[in-house]
Amino acid sequence: MDREQMVLGKYSIGIGDRFGLEGRAQLRALKAALNEGIELTPVWNKSNREHSLVGTEPSSTRQAADEAAREEGWNRSYFVDADHVGLKTVDRFIEACDFFTLDVADFIGKQASDDDVQSFVDSVSPAIGRLQHPDLDGSLAVTAADLHRFAGHYLVAVREAGKIFAYLKGAKGTRPFVTEVSVDEATEPQTPVELYLLLAGLAGEGVAVQTIAPKFCGKFLKGVDYVGDVTAFGREFKDDVAIVSLATTKFALPENLKLSIHSGSDKFSLYPLMNAVLAKTEAGIHLKTAGTTWLEEVSGLAAEEEGLGIAKKIYAQAYDRIEELRKPYETVVEIEMNKLPSPAAVMRWSAEEFIAALRHNQRDPRFNRDFRQLVHIAFRVAAEMGDKFKQGMLKSRTSIEQHVVENLFVKHIQPLFPKTI
Ligand SMILES: [Zn+2]
Repeated sequence: MDREQMVLGKYSIGIGDRFGLEGRAQLRALKAALNEGIELTPVWNKSNREHSLVGTEPSSTRQAADEAAREEGWNRSYFVDADHVGLKTVDRFIEACDFFTLDVADFIGKQASDDDVQSFVDSVSPAIGRLQHPDLDGSLAVTAADLHRFAGHYLVAVREAGKIFAYLKGAKGTRPFVTEVSVDEATEPQTPVELYLLLAGLAGEGVAVQTIAPKFCGKFLKGVDYVGDVTAFGREFKDDVAIVSLATTKFALPENLKLSIHSGSDKFSLYPLMNAVLAKTEAGIHLKTAGTTWLEEVSGLAAEEEGLGIAKKIYAQAYDRIEELRKPYETVVEIEMNKLPSPAAVMRWSAEEFIAALRHNQRDPRFNRDFRQLVHIAFRVAAEMGDKFKQGMLKSRTSIEQHVVENLFVKHIQPLFPKTI
């Protein structure tokens, strides 16, 4: 397929692939979905942080994606996402990527000049008042005070998104790309009203945003289920979906604009209620769930004799280096040291015991969420093992791919995405 014709479908999934080995297995999961009437656009997202930790370049993600699509005969759209980039980091992604996640969270809370605030307030003033949409209960309203507070807190971030987008447009020329704006790594969640004003601001900056990643209430920790009030999340999600629909028309944003959920993997308890909202509203969604595939790689590795030894070594080294490994993930990983098994104990585990502790089956009493989070951030250790790790990954191919396909299809795609055909 010509890259010019590629479109991000109504439903899309960010399937990161740390080592560029699972593209085919991931596409097999998407083919299984298609067979059941669920159409999904795959997007291979890999953040600047991951590339730096693993020591890879974005061109390797592009190559792995193109190869996987060719080998699997995937003749539908797919994208490669420069995940969480800013002006300082975007350059090395420009050639390889056609999806860019502009992360402006670090600019939230910076003070804009009084003039800038005033001109923003003036331009958005017509949008204040009660927010009217069939899926909103009528209780949401934007007041002048909201507008001022928002401008004081978010305007610099909005402007920054405008700058990165303009830079990208210049660099990409006539080559099309999808733009996401992310504020999911902010310290505070955004309310639906703030999301509405954020979209107003992005429209004002001319950012052709197709996916928007807010920070939701509750905790989205890496590799484990949602921590927080599921009912409150459900309400917020329903309102945010309506806000996106409202803002799209009101501010003339791209008509396929949709929410992007940076799930941190495996927010299983949220899937049923998100599915219900999507089915009812017919809104689109982009789900990023990258780390889950890495954890399945480790499970698949552990299922084979030689691989089990490698998986145990990864854990033992990660245990010793925990402080260093969790540093880049400070806000999204919560590991209780006293709940981690000692490396010596893990060395004695059978394959079954290792997998039971790691796999995300909350009904299994052997499942250990602290163990799982540590393995989630241990991919750096694996990368440093070099050939030994790579060989193990190749040798355990069958088992790993089984894990990857089943996990994506059964635990993520089926519960979240409604059928489209
Ligand atoms: Zn994110």
